[in-house]
Amino acid sequence: MTTQQKPDFDCIAVGAGFAGLALIHYLRDAGLSIRVFDRAADIGGTWTWNRYPGAATDSESYYYCLTFSKELLQEWSWTKRYPDWEETHNYLKFVADKCDMRPHIQLNTEIVSAEYQQDSGLWLVKTGDGESYTCKYFVSAMGMISEPQIPSIPGLDTFKGPCFHSSRWPQEGLDYAGKRVGIIGAGATTVQMLPVVAQTAASVTVFQRTPNFVMPAMQKPMTPEWEKEIKDNYDSIIEKCRNHVFGMAFEGPPGRNAVDATPEERERIFEEHWNGSFRWVFETFDDLLADPEANRMASEFIIKKMKERVNDPEIAELLTPKGYPLFAKRPPLDHGFYEAFNRDNVHLVDIKDREPIVEVTETGVRTTENDYEFDIIVLATGFKAYTGALEAFDIRGLHGQTLRDKWKTSSEAIMGVCVSDFPNLFTVTGPQAPFANLPTSIEQNVMWITDCIQKMESEGYDTFIPRAEAEKEWTAHTAEIHDQTLMSQGDKVNSWMMGANLEDKPPRVLIYFGGANIYYDKLRESVESGFPELDFKKSAA
Ligand code: NAP
Repeated sequence: MTTQQKPDFDCIAVGAGFAGLALIHYLRDAGLSIRVFDRAADIGGTWTWNRYPGAATDSESYYYCLTFSKELLQEWSWTKRYPDWEETHNYLKFVADKCDMRPHIQLNTEIVSAEYQQDSGLWLVKTGDGESYTCKYFVSAMGMISEPQIPSIPGLDTFKGPCFHSSRWPQEGLDYAGKRVGIIGAGATTVQMLPVVAQTAASVTVFQRTPNFVMPAMQKPMTPEWEKEIKDNYDSIIEKCRNHVFGMAFEGPPGRNAVDATPEERERIFEEHWNGSFRWVFETFDDLLADPEANRMASEFIIKKMKERVNDPEIAELLTPKGYPLFAKRPPLDHGFYEAFNRDNVHLVDIKDREPIVEVTETGVRTTENDYEFDIIVLATGFKAYTGALEAFDIRGLHGQTLRDKWKTSSEAIMGVCVSDFPNLFTVTGPQAPFANLPTSIEQNVMWITDCIQKMESEGYDTFIPRAEAEKEWTAHTAEIHDQTLMSQGDKVNSWMMGANLEDKPPRVLIYFGGANIYYDKLRESVESGFPELDFKKSAA
């Protein structure tokens, strides 16, 4: 280390999920000491918190993984196309054990503040149990969708039964068989949870504000033949992810536009590719997310498919997304969500136009029209995406400013990996990074971070300060692209992709929509040109 006061660790990271494990691998390989803290009782990040029934990935298993070790890729066997939370959790534990990462991880430890010390050039990191540690590099590995958004519905704390956010599903499990369950929210979480809970609950009532474009996941088991094909071709799968706009191992681009196809051709291509996953959006036509007319055609197809699955036309109408383009809200993948509404024990309440929620009572939910009685209420109300975890405790950079102060009205950052005025701080998939297959983005980010630290150490620098001009440039570039996409209409429909779901903040540009592959190229260019976004400094002494 070049900093004069020796820190406890070269690097402290918060979050023992995919990002924390990737950091341990790459930084340990680079000869640095690292400790990863997590307040959870187990490693796994998202996959240790989100234990709600039906929780599963929307990426296909074989590329929702870390790629740094060919041995790991060959040894681990996925059992299905989309692993449930438990399988992904087991995978992460397998990685941690196989790579002997546990000695670097401290669980059950909440970080309550992290402060850059100008005199020593170190970060001072404090835990909830009163311990303090110093490090030269402080890294957020807290995930981009991890901080729950709790709605300000009056009376929430008066309900007598269990009432919790979906990502805080009781770790010890919860017996909902024969119980009346109310779910507030109808996003990706509810889409996964409803069909499973409905199987044994006495009743499930979904309170929906905005209907989504829901596409089928089409789960299937991993056969030995499929596994062999994957394992024989991992290099090209990794390459595909690296070069895809969404970081996924998809084919494409298809090289044709929906608006140029005849109606028959378009219908045929849409039908042929209706095989589950987001592939449908990226492997049918190139213009679905760019051209409003093509987007309308895709939207109509998805709605037609939904109507074939929902028996009651009135319910189908309530489930029909209206007034916004496909992908202005992140579309969920489903495993029987629509069929669940054909069951007698499942009810849908339109809380936007028909009967808004007034309050939660001791016994359930009161709307403008009805009193609904429940034994359990689940708040599947989403997350403070991208910035929420970074704002949940004090992270103080130069001049004592916190990230929370900095991001009151907008969320500027440089490529989602660092923030001006916050020296020696890295964020993995922070604001203004792309929204993509997360393990791909995480690994690309961690490689950039590792290269940066290696430059710091080999050239004897004490500090890097992300440049304000570089942040302005990236923010302007991200905003310009954002404004050209249909995703910019997310503010109409409370999309978390613009922070438009937050009650206390204005919508903002949170995501780089220029393509994950282009973004990964930009990260590489940054490394190759010596990190022009950063000012490197040596201490005077
Ligand atoms: P979400 O998509 O943001 O959905 C939240 C739901 O809660 C929406 O229906 C929203 O209605 C509703 N809501 C929020 N505040 C409310 C209030 N005050 N009153 C009534 N309803 C309210 O959240 P999510 O379902 O947890 O999913 C978030 C993201 O997490 C996903 O898009 C995805 O990226 C990730 N996720 C991934 C997976 C996976 O990959 N398998 C699974 C789950 C989640 P409005 O739409 O009207 O705001």
